[in-house]
Amino acid sequence: MKTIAVPGRCRCGRVTFMLHEEPLSFYLCHCTDCQAESGSAFGQSMHVRRKAIDSVDGVVQEHAYEGPSGVRNILTHCAECMTIIWGGRPDMPQVVGLNAGSLKDIAGLMPHGNMWTRSARPWVTFAPGPRFEQQPEDPLALVRAWQEHRSNEA
Ligand SMILES: [Zn+2]
Ligand SMILES: [Zn+2]
Repeated sequence: MKTIAVPGRCRCGRVTFMLHEEPLSFYLCHCTDCQAESGSAFGQSMHVRRKAIDSVDGVVQEHAYEGPSGVRNILTHCAECMTIIWGGRPDMPQVVGLNAGSLKDIAGLMPHGNMWTRSARPWVTFAPGPRFEQQPEDPLALVRAWQEHRSNEA
């Protein structure tokens, strides 16, 4: 796994962290929850290994969340400004979904893949890569698409 050092933060800046590995995926989620949460047209998300996030400073809290596909997640947010920084399934603790919008700079990485395109805003431009109408049934589909894309670039 390629080593990087990208700083991240919540909106108010009280929580900071470092991402130390290239993500396992980087995609856009057009679900209505991401739209409501971000105030934007989509969420930018990355699968990362949990241990790739470290130097976490500031007070974080967790809350349970049921995603649009019915999967239960535990989300980690800043205790102060409530920005969600990462979240994951309790049954898969090694990998989390990182809010890529919290990264200060994403080292030139471009998202590859889209999910929940059926609720995408009609004016949105999709990221390159696959488009899934909902959550892909295969939880690794976006990871695989990303790996293939990155190996083609190399
Ligand atoms: Zn905050
Ligand atoms: Zn979403």
